[in-house]
Amino acid sequence: MIIVMKLNVGEAQVNQVKEKLHQRGYRTHLIYGTERLVIGAIGRENHPVPTGLETMPGVEKVVNIMVPYKLVSREAKQENTVIDVGDISVGSEEVIIMAGPCAVESFDQIYRIARGVREGGAHFLRGGAFKPRSSPYSFQGLEEEGLKFMAEVRKKTGMKIVTEAITPGDIELIDAYADIIQVGARNMQNYALLRELGRCRKPILLKRGLASTIEEWLMSAEYILNEGNYRVILCERGIRTFENYTRNTLDISSIPIVKKLSHLPIIVDPSHSAGDWSLVFPLAKAAIAAGADGIIVEVHHNPGEALCDGSQSLTLESFRLMMNRLPAVAAAVDRKIVRPSVGGVINKEEMIGADG
Ligand code: PEP
Ligand code: MN
Repeated sequence: MIIVMKLNVGEAQVNQVKEKLHQRGYRTHLIYGTERLVIGAIGRENHPVPTGLETMPGVEKVVNIMVPYKLVSREAKQENTVIDVGDISVGSEEVIIMAGPCAVESFDQIYRIARGVREGGAHFLRGGAFKPRSSPYSFQGLEEEGLKFMAEVRKKTGMKIVTEAITPGDIELIDAYADIIQVGARNMQNYALLRELGRCRKPILLKRGLASTIEEWLMSAEYILNEGNYRVILCERGIRTFENYTRNTLDISSIPIVKKLSHLPIIVDPSHSAGDWSLVFPLAKAAIAAGADGIIVEVHHNPGEALCDGSQSLTLESFRLMMNRLPAVAAAVDRKIVRPSVGGVINKEEMIGADG
């Protein structure tokens, strides 16, 4: 349930309501809207429903949330959540671009790709140091060395970094390096991981599970918020269907549906949706047109030699071409893509012929 407080409510009144809820075994979350404070009250099934809340000082109304996810629901918070990562806001009017290789392979590789995608207009650098591979024999990532390379690249380029945690035991280490921690599709229902991420303060990029419904996905987000981390970005990355021409099927309808059901931002990963680089641009256009708050794409300076997901990776050149066209799509739906100022020293000579 949510307790909507009156305008300009005082701290003492908020504390009284919280106290009453805590006595009944409820957990409380303060949800700040632009006008009003709402208290989210989460109890277990056997917790007695607190009575008399409506008449407490400072309380405007008490509303039961009928959907199983509570804190992530639109009922709990009507305004869109905007997540600030340094000076970049995810979920605002601006459409955010995250780009980089599937996996960090070496310092030179990640630095080269970072410079290329930064020049192309990416806001964040993506790159996996811990890779959840379908085969135990595939490249599993450089682990801490990969995180160090990314941190070094952040220093040189000013790009914020997004990287994946695959077990609860990795979180402390990844938290020390990442700006956004990614939960991969295979881990969307790893509840121990979600709980632990709920206790850290970094924004979480929560990918949709390979065969998960939108409700299951929102329930996973709820695990993170319920532990006190309200900074969750959802990521649609395609789901498994009977169609096997593409690696997955991009569920484009999930974007407006999530926007209706939840206040959290949602971005789209056209690379894992398609599994084919030639489909990335059309799917990215569709995602932005449908209302996505950003896209995350795989880019490699030499996809043919990539250790992971080369067939779906754009070259630096095709990324640049795509980035030249996407602002017009954003503008058509009253959004914009703002090019970041290019940080660090970019040696133009080094950029020439960077593809291939
Ligand atoms: C990735 O981002 O490289 C990745 C493994 O994605 P997903 O979890 O969506 O398959
Ligand atoms: Mn990948």
